[in-house]
Amino acid sequence: MISLVNSPEYAKHQLETHPENQGRLEVLIDSLQNEGLLNKLDVHQPILPNEEDLLLVHTKEHLKHLKSFTDSGGGYLDYDTYASPHSYEIAKLAAGGAIKASELVLGQSDFAYSLARPPGHHATTDRAMGFCLINNLAVALKYMRKKHGIKKFLIFDFDAHYGNGTAEIFYHDPHVLYISIHQDPRTIFPGKGFIEEIGSGSGEGFNLNIPMPPGSRTSDYIYILKKILEPVCSQFKADFYYLDVGFDGHHEDPLSSLLLDDDFYPWAACYMQKITPTITLILEGGYSHRGMAQSNLKMIKVLMDKNLNEKEFQPHGKSIVKDETKKIFKEIQNTFSPFFIF
Ligand SMILES: [Zn+2]
Repeated sequence: MISLVNSPEYAKHQLETHPENQGRLEVLIDSLQNEGLLNKLDVHQPILPNEEDLLLVHTKEHLKHLKSFTDSGGGYLDYDTYASPHSYEIAKLAAGGAIKASELVLGQSDFAYSLARPPGHHATTDRAMGFCLINNLAVALKYMRKKHGIKKFLIFDFDAHYGNGTAEIFYHDPHVLYISIHQDPRTIFPGKGFIEEIGSGSGEGFNLNIPMPPGSRTSDYIYILKKILEPVCSQFKADFYYLDVGFDGHHEDPLSSLLLDDDFYPWAACYMQKITPTITLILEGGYSHRGMAQSNLKMIKVLMDKNLNEKEFQPHGKSIVKDETKKIFKEIQNTFSPFFIF
C-alpha cells in the first residue's frame, strides 16, 4: 500500500513572492489528480505533535522564539527564511506529517510520503534557516525511536542542498546513517557538506557526503550512487529507511546548478526498493513547478509498480560520466575505508 500524508492547512504558511510557497504542493497534488493517481493512494492527514515531541530535537528557546515571532505577525527570520502569522502551527503540522508517514510505514504501508511544507532539513536544534523552521524528519525519527523503540535508521537525502540541520542533529549518533548527495557546498547554500564531514565521536563514519559539481547530470549521480548506496546500506543494516526527497537538483530548477532530468527521481526510488521493501518519504525542496511535478509523478508510479526496473530510467546509449565524478568517488572510498567497504 502507498500512503500519502497531506493537509490543505499547509497553505497557511505562505509568502507569494517566495519560491517556497503553497504553489509547490498544489502542483504536486494537481498532477497526481490529473493522472488519475490520487484516488489510488491511501491519503491521510498529518497529526499535530505536542511540545514534548518537538523537544526531542529542538531547544525550548527555539520553539518559544518561533511561537512569539509568528504570534506577533511573522516576517523574515533570516535573510531567506520567512514565517507568516500561522507558521509555527503549520511547521508543527509538517513535522506531524513526517511522524504520520513513519507510523504508516511501521503499520500497513509499504511506502508513505509526507507532502508537507515548510521543509525541514536545514533547521538545526536551535535555529530556523534555509526556508526550514522545524526539522520534520529529525522529529519523526526521534519520535519513532522513543515511541516504537526502533534502533537503526538510514536517511538518504538527494535534495540539491546539504541537509545541514539533519546532519548536525545526528552527527554524534552511530545509529543514524545520513547519506547526502548534493551540489558542491563551495557553490551553494549552506556552504557545508564536504566529504571530510564524516560525523564525530561514536558517530564517526555515519555522515556520508557526496558533493557533486555544478553541471552534474543523472549519469554522474547514478554512477556514484550505485557504487556507494548498495554496499553501505547492506553493511549498515538499518531497521528503518527515510528518503529525503528534494527536486531542486532538476535542470529546470532555479535554485541549483545541477542538471538532473525527470528520470533521476524514479531511478532513485527504484534503486532504494531493491535495498528495502519499506520507505518513508519526506518532501524537502524543489522550486521548478513543471520539473518537480513530472519528476514526482514518475517517482510515485515506480512506488506503485514493483515490476519497474531501475534500468528503464538510466540514460540511454553510452552515458558520459565526468572524470571529476570518478575522482569524488575515489575520495569518498578512501575517506570511508575505516568504516565501509565499497
Ligand atoms: Zn534544497
